[in-house]
Parts: sequence; C-alpha cells; structure tokens
Amino acid sequence: VPLLLTQFLDRAVSLYGDKIGVIDEGKELTYRELNDRVNQLSHGLRDLGVKKGDRVAYLAPNTLEMLEGFYGVFQLGAVMVPLNIRLKPDDYLFILNHSESKVLFVDQELYHLILPIKDKLETIEAIIVHGKNPETNEIAYDEWLTQFTSAPFQRPDIDEDDVCSLLYTSGTTGNPKGVMLTHRNNYLHALITMHHLRVSDRDNYLHVLPMFHVNGWGSPFYYTANGATHICLRKAAPELIFEYIQKYQVNVMHMAPTVLNSLLQYYEQHVPIMEHPVRVVIAGSAPPPAFVTRVEKELGWEFIQVYGMTESSPLSTVSTIRSHLSDLPLHEQYRMKAKAGHAMIGCEVKVVNEHGEAVPHDGQTIGEVVVRSNGVMKGYWKNPEATMETIRNGWLHTGDMATVDSYGNIDIVDRKKDIIISGGENISSIEVEGVLYDHPSVLEVAVIAVPHEKWGETPHAFVVTRPGHTVTEQELIAFSRERLAHFKAITGVTFVDELPKTASGKIQKVHLRKEYWTSIG
Ligand code: ATP
Ligand code: MG
Repeated sequence: VPLLLTQFLDRAVSLYGDKIGVIDEGKELTYRELNDRVNQLSHGLRDLGVKKGDRVAYLAPNTLEMLEGFYGVFQLGAVMVPLNIRLKPDDYLFILNHSESKVLFVDQELYHLILPIKDKLETIEAIIVHGKNPETNEIAYDEWLTQFTSAPFQRPDIDEDDVCSLLYTSGTTGNPKGVMLTHRNNYLHALITMHHLRVSDRDNYLHVLPMFHVNGWGSPFYYTANGATHICLRKAAPELIFEYIQKYQVNVMHMAPTVLNSLLQYYEQHVPIMEHPVRVVIAGSAPPPAFVTRVEKELGWEFIQVYGMTESSPLSTVSTIRSHLSDLPLHEQYRMKAKAGHAMIGCEVKVVNEHGEAVPHDGQTIGEVVVRSNGVMKGYWKNPEATMETIRNGWLHTGDMATVDSYGNIDIVDRKKDIIISGGENISSIEVEGVLYDHPSVLEVAVIAVPHEKWGETPHAFVVTRPGHTVTEQELIAFSRERLAHFKAITGVTFVDELPKTASGKIQKVHLRKEYWTSIG
C-alpha cells in the first residue's frame, strides 16, 4: 500500500464520521460532512481541468476552506502551493508564475493583494474566492462548490514518492525557495509527530500557526488521522486565543515564540480563566529559557519545543523530558526544554564540524546540524544547484549551528548567517537575546552583528520596550555586561516600535541589518 495523505481523512471518516472534525467561526462540521465537501472540491477541480501533478495555489488564513483544500487537492494527485498571507503582490506574482500554478483559491479578505497582479499571471486559469460575500468578478467558492457531487471521487494512481506540496520557505534569510515534499515525506513525518506530541481523539487543536507554513501544514494530517477536532483561528491575537481555549476546551496549540510572548503579556494583565491544561508546542525560533518557566509555572501548561525546517517536512527533534531524567530539579528540566532536544524516531540528527565529524557532547563545541530522515525533501523546485548544495551525501545541511550536551540534547545556537564573530569568538545572538529578555522593560528583542573596528563584529540589540516602561541604551548595555562574558555583551541599542516578522512570527534579521545600515548612513 503506498503511503498517501488521503488515507488520513479516510481513517477519520471511517472511525470518527459523526464526530465534529472542524469548527470555523461557529460553523461545525463532522468528519463525514468535511469529506463530502472534499469530494465536491475534487470533482470541481477535475471539472476545471486540473490533473495529477498540476499545481493548485491557496492564499487563505486558517479556515475550513483551507483545511478541506488539502484533501481536495491530494485526491487528484495534484500539488498544493500554500501562500504566505503576509507577502506583497509582487511576491505572489513571483511564486504563482514560478510554481506554474493553474488554479488559485483566495480568501475574500486577501483578494486585494491579487488584483494588482492579475493580468501578469502566466499560468493561472481560474481564480476562486472564498468567503460569504466575495464582491469580485471571480468565481465565488460556495456557489461553485454546490454544483458538484459529494459522491466518492475516483482517485488516479498516485505514488508515495509523488510531490504533494510545494512550500516556499519563510524567506527569513533571503528569497523564498520552493520546497518539494512528497506524500511519503509528509506521511512519515505525521506518524512520527503524532507519536511525539501524543496526538489523540481527545485533542481539541487550535490552529494558531498558519496552515500555509510548514509547521501548521502538518497538523491537518496528524490531528485528522486521530479524529481530533480542528478549531480554525484566523488571527493569532492573544485575547482571541484565550477566548477560544475556554469556549472550545482547547488542549493543544502550536505557535512561534513571539506569539507565546504575546500570550504571556496578555496573561499578566488580564489573568483569563483557564480550566483546561494545554500542551503548547513551540517551533520556529529559539524561545528564551525564561519563557519555558513562565509557561509551565504561571500558565500551568506543558511546554514542548520542536526543531525543524521546511526542507525536512519540518520536524527533526523534540524537547520532551525522558522519564529517566524526570528526577532532575525543575529548573534543570526547564533549561532542557529550552533546547531543541533529541532526534525524533526515524530521524538521524548530528551536529558536525567542518570535516563532517560529530562534535563532542560537551555543551560547548559548536557545529552544523545535519539531518537524514524520510522527511527530507525531494529537492528545491527548479533549483538543482541549491538542492545539491543543501543535501550532500544524503544529509540535509540545515545551516543551523548547535551544541550537544552530555544528555545528547541539541541546543540551536544560531543560524550560520546570524552568528556574531567577535575577536575570533562565536557569539550566539540567541543567547544574548535570552539574557535581555530577563530585563523587566524588554518586551521584544533581536540581536544582530554590526561591524566593530577592533573586534570585527559586535552584538547590537533592537529592542521594543514594554508599554509604560523606559530604559536607556546604557542601562541595557550594563545589564548585559553583568550577565554575559564581556565580549558577548551588546555595545549598542536601537529602540523600535516593532520588529519585522514573517507571517509565522519569526523575526527577520535581514531587515534589521538593512535598517542598521540605513541609520548609520
Ligand atoms: P528561509 O529559509 O527562507 O530563510 P526559514 O529558514 O526561516 O526561511 P523555515 O523553514 O520556516 O524557513 O524555518 C526553519 C528555520 O527555523 C530553521 O532552519 C531554524 O533556523 C529555525 N528554527 C526552527 N525551529 C527552531 C528551534 N526550535 N530553535 C531555534 N531555531 C529554530
Ligand atoms: Mg531556511
């Protein structure tokens, strides 16, 4: 039997057909009702001439329409191209033409982003608009869908090594690249992840991470296969998240550390009622250790960190504490959870030096993380050179630098591109950020390398202060010098109102570097 993602919804229908599968803005659908719509969608796509291997693009927040899109597209053996909702029209023009997408589904709230580039789309044959009142000249989704039967769809032969998705990377470090993932990649990734995150039919999963991003992308597979309930969230606003937790008895969420930070802030000021224990899974960029303690102690939620990248479907490591380590003092356990953790089942993860040799497990020596697993992509779309550069001898070279402690826990120190080299010493921008987060006036911080006459480079912080707080550059410099080796301490601060972020909530240091250069002329 080939490993196909369609089997995940099949399983939910046969075992949990009458259970609520999706809740979106009060609308509730059973898994059977969801499956009916998925069949209608597949029939509709076939009617539009979409065939196996064709690309179908989606520009939507976390909605029912987006969720059903996954299975509607996969039944045809077609390839889903989810688009980041925070891009600019020209970015969409690039991705839609580069991926040679045939059909575009777009949420009515986002249609204005497509209008200016509509005439330059080279391969799009139909634009279909999601929403109650799409006031456009395009096809209205709801009406269109009702024309088609919900009878089972005759699926073509699909191979597990066929590509099912083309996911463009976050563009944190430069231009996004199209990552080709296969049914097999996503299928095995889902099995591994559902085990490590203990996914079950008791889960009420709140979609905080966007489904279009690879971290949110996998959740429609493993939560569906296990008959959990999907709760769609269109905007990751803290007041809404706390409201939904209460209203829908949410017990599991995945999010970026920046979103978690906004929840912690909100909690401090409002102390919402919370009767349900929650698992909160963090991915995307390193959460400062202080966050772990606050989540577990103040919110009373379980904190789980995972590490991965689009190119590996994405996850490769998890930070859950193994039972034989559960006697360690709590603060040690929190420190451990602030690390990326250990390899997931079926993933080989190594930290290697420039000769490809594993670094010692001393918690100090820095090397690059390399990964070998069934989740590793088929390659970058139309970019064999970049593929060859990234996957060498079967190992995915992540570009992330890390150490390994004596327990075998991997700790991501920084991206190769973000590491600060000062007087020949490597400084982790993440470590410096972690220290500054302990300052009471710091709401958000990002540290980058800036040139220094004597040391080559030196750490510089971009800081957003908490509302009502004031703090000076000198105070923050002194604070970091008290807590870090002097060469690691920041030497300058730029105060800003907000930090530039990707749609999944990652801080884009490329933009900060540009801002720094502009500010010094
Ligand atoms: P681009 O490749 O376009 O620059 P990106 O690398 O941010 O964007 P993603 O694939 O979404 O795109 O993100 C993967 C990266 O996120 C990893 O390579 C790593 O740098 C970072 N990351 C993911 N999980 C963690 C984690 N637990 N701790 C630290 N960093 C993490
Ligand atoms: Mg990347």
